[in-house]
Amino acid sequence: MVSIFSKIINKEIPSEIQYEDDVCIAIHDINPKAKVHLLVIPKKPIINIDSAIESDIEILGHLLLVCKKLAKKFNISKSGYQILTNVGEGGGQTVMHLHLHLLSGNTLTM
Ligand code: AMP
Repeated sequence: MVSIFSKIINKEIPSEIQYEDDVCIAIHDINPKAKVHLLVIPKKPIINIDSAIESDIEILGHLLLVCKKLAKKFNISKSGYQILTNVGEGGGQTVMHLHLHLLSGNTLTM
């Protein structure tokens, strides 16, 4: 099934894309849980980390470095931020297309 994120990536659904390159896009979460809440989404429709394969290693590393770039863009590098990814329904995942949540402004406790 094509996820809503694939539709955003393919510009079938309009969205304010905050960052885009060959590998991924970043958008604001539609239902933000923090002052800054971005989603970094690979263009390859990997379902989640559990579905990733060895050859996805560059994509996965790239997503983390894009989080760093976005942290700079949104001025949260110094204040600090969290990067979170949910895996599977039991792990709180609602959109079955891998995404990293980049959060800053309220701290999630572990
Ligand atoms: P998760 O629960 O980890 O799968 O996160 C999915 C996230 O996607 C949620 O935080 C939603 O608020 C967000 N979301 C769902 N649809 C959209 C959309 N069209 N644009 C931006 N964010 C979305």
